[in-house]
Amino acid sequence: MSMVYRGRFAPSPTGPLHAGSLVAALASWLDARAHGGQWLVRIEDVDRPRCVTGADRQILQQLASCGLVADEPPQWQSSRDTLYQSALERLVSNGLAYPCGCSRKDIEEALRSLGRERPRHAELVYPGTCRGGLQGKQPRAWRLRVPAGEVRWTDRRLGDQQQDVADQVGDFVLKRADGLFAYQLAVVVDDAAQRITHVVRGEDLADNTPRQLLLQRALGLPAPVYLHTPLVLGANGEKLSKQNGAAPLELDAPAVALANAAAVLGLTVASGGTVADVLARAVAAWGGRWR
Ligand code: GLU
Repeated sequence: MSMVYRGRFAPSPTGPLHAGSLVAALASWLDARAHGGQWLVRIEDVDRPRCVTGADRQILQQLASCGLVADEPPQWQSSRDTLYQSALERLVSNGLAYPCGCSRKDIEEALRSLGRERPRHAELVYPGTCRGGLQGKQPRAWRLRVPAGEVRWTDRRLGDQQQDVADQVGDFVLKRADGLFAYQLAVVVDDAAQRITHVVRGEDLADNTPRQLLLQRALGLPAPVYLHTPLVLGANGEKLSKQNGAAPLELDAPAVALANAAAVLGLTVASGGTVADVLARAVAAWGGRWR
């Protein structure tokens, strides 16, 4: 069977790579190589206020010192606003997205009056206040009209998954009140524009998948296959993240860093030799992992 496989690693340049992000980078690279496919890097810098100047270059350098070099020039989301805007306009003209005039306080009050205070991560379930129109309010954000019912998908590692997005998340934001496009829209538009067939990323992103599937359907775009990889836990048992101060990867010994990342993926790979040696062993060990 011949298949065009295109995978990607899509870091947000909010800081340098840490041990957890290297696992996702390595897994996506290994899966692409094991499928004889292509591997791309996309710098996800839509959320400008969270980006750190120079972190993009630092990440690309860290990847390069681990022998992880993209098969096409990296892309920056910050240069792709017109693409996201035209996707949003398509949704609006199809009646699938609408302007919302609610502030965070409006949403909290609406939820309270419904007896539904249910913060989910720091996000509030949008109660649909502006679904039927702005009622004189100024448009702030743009939201997807989420259909009722369960969204189901199969993750290569986590198995059958489901989420009722309408109930658990509500109509979610596509373009924010500050004019920036939301991650959900940018990632879906770019995965399709870059013809990504397989998404391999950290398990912390798994619960975004149903929102992305809904957006793909609304835009008439194909859905990639998803694999969510194990997270690296810090000493406190929480996932390593830049937010909880994960140390940047020290790359004085990239072969060792790679072997450690492979171990998180369940691969036993000796760290001796060059980076290329370790990667070759890791590709062999990856084989048909999480088919
Ligand atoms: N940019 C996202 C992050 O760094 C990852 C997006 C994705 O892989 O879909 O958390």
